[in-house]
Amino acid sequence: MSSAKSPIRVLLVEDETGDAYLVKTVLKQNRDVSFEITWVESLAIAEHQLRHSCFDVMLLDLSLPDSEGLETVEIGRQMAGDIPIVVLTGRADVDFALSALKAGATDYMVKGDFGFDGLARVIRYALLRVEMETHNKLLVAALEAAANSIIITDTEANIKWANPAFSRLTGYSLEEVMGSKPSELIKSGKQNELFYQDMWRNLLAGKHWRGEVINKHKNGDLYHEELSIAPVKNGRGEIVNFIGIKENISERKSLEEMLHKLANTDPLTGLFNRRVFLDRLTQESDRISRLGGSAVLLMLDLDFFKNINDNYGHATGDEVLKQFANVMRHNSRNIDVPARLGGEEFAVLLPSTGRNEALIMAERLRKEVANIAISHPKGMVHITVSIGAALLSIDDTDSEMVLNRADSAMYTAKESGRNQVCWFDCAN
Ligand SMILES: [Mg+2]
Repeated sequence: MSSAKSPIRVLLVEDETGDAYLVKTVLKQNRDVSFEITWVESLAIAEHQLRHSCFDVMLLDLSLPDSEGLETVEIGRQMAGDIPIVVLTGRADVDFALSALKAGATDYMVKGDFGFDGLARVIRYALLRVEMETHNKLLVAALEAAANSIIITDTEANIKWANPAFSRLTGYSLEEVMGSKPSELIKSGKQNELFYQDMWRNLLAGKHWRGEVINKHKNGDLYHEELSIAPVKNGRGEIVNFIGIKENISERKSLEEMLHKLANTDPLTGLFNRRVFLDRLTQESDRISRLGGSAVLLMLDLDFFKNINDNYGHATGDEVLKQFANVMRHNSRNIDVPARLGGEEFAVLLPSTGRNEALIMAERLRKEVANIAISHPKGMVHITVSIGAALLSIDDTDSEMVLNRADSAMYTAKESGRNQVCWFDCAN
C-alpha cells in the first residue's frame, strides 16, 4: 500500500465514458488523498495493465464488453492477485452485492451513490482491510512456524485453533484436536485435582498461569512440558479465550536427571558416592541428636583386593567391585544408604536400626560376599570382606566420630583374620 503522501494508484475498469468521468471527478475532488487513475474499458486491457504497472486498488464495473456479472468479479480476482477490488454496480441489490463479495470483491458501491466522500472512503477501507489481512496472515504464519506448541481455546477449554507444533508434541492431527479439550487428549493423571483447581482459579480470575506439567502423547508416552496460559478478554473485560503456549522440556528433564545421577553416584558401581553418603550421615546424626533413636554405620573393606588387581587385571578387579556392590544393594532396605567411599572402601548407613539387627544384616552380607565367584582363565576369583560396625551416638559432635569408630572396628576385623564382622565395643 502507498504511504499517506503518495497517491493511491487506481485501475478503473469501466466501459461507459460517462460513468468513468463521474468516478474520476469524484476522486479528484477529494482533498485528503490524491488518486492516480488509470482508466481501461475491458478486462483484457485491464489484464495487460496489471501485468505492466502497479496498482493499489481496482474499481471494477460488472458489465464490460468481454465479461458480464459475477464472472467479471471472478476473472478480476484472478488477475488482481492481492489487490483489493471494489465492484461498481448499477444494482442496489444486497443479495447480489453479497454474491460479489463471495466471488472475491473486497467491497462494492452502487453507481450514483458515491456522495461527497463515499467512493474515496470505500477505497481507503478496502486498502486498510487488505493491509490488516496481510498483517494477520503474517502473524498466523509466524504462529504456525513457531517451535513451541500454541493452542487457543474458548472459555470451556474447547480447542479452537492449534499450530503444527502442538500436533507434533501430542501426536494428534489438527483435525482430531479441533473442538476437543486438552484434558480429553493429553491428560496423564500425573497432576492431582488440586493442581488443576489452582490453575483454573488463577485463570478465571484473569491471571496468567505458568507451570510444569506431565502430559501424555497419543502413543501413551509421557512428556514434560512447560505450560503458560493467558486469558484473553473482550472489550467489556470478560474472558473469551485462553491461549496456551507449551514447550517440550522432556530432554531438559532427562538431562537434569542424568546430571543429578552423575553428581550423586559412583559411576562404576551405581552406589551413592562419598559426598552424598557424608551428607546423609550428617542428616541422620542431626536427627538422632534431636529426636533420639538408633542408627548404625557399617564400614566395609574388601580383603586383599590389591592382589586381585595384580593377579587377574583391573577388568576383573572392576567386576569384583560391581558384584560386591550388587550384593550390598540386594541386602539394603529402602531406608539404607549403601555407598562406595573410594577404592575398595564401602559403607552402609542403617537408619532406625539397633545393634542386633545391624549385626544380622552385616553377617548376612559377609556370607553372601564370600559366595561371589568370578570366572577367570587362571581360575575362579573369590573375595571376602571385613566389616566394622558402630552405633551413631547422641554424644557425637560431628559425623567424623562415628566414622572413626566404625573404621577402628573394621581394622580390628582385619587384624583378627579378615572375613568377619566386628562391633566397635570389641575394638576397645
Ligand atoms: Mg458497463
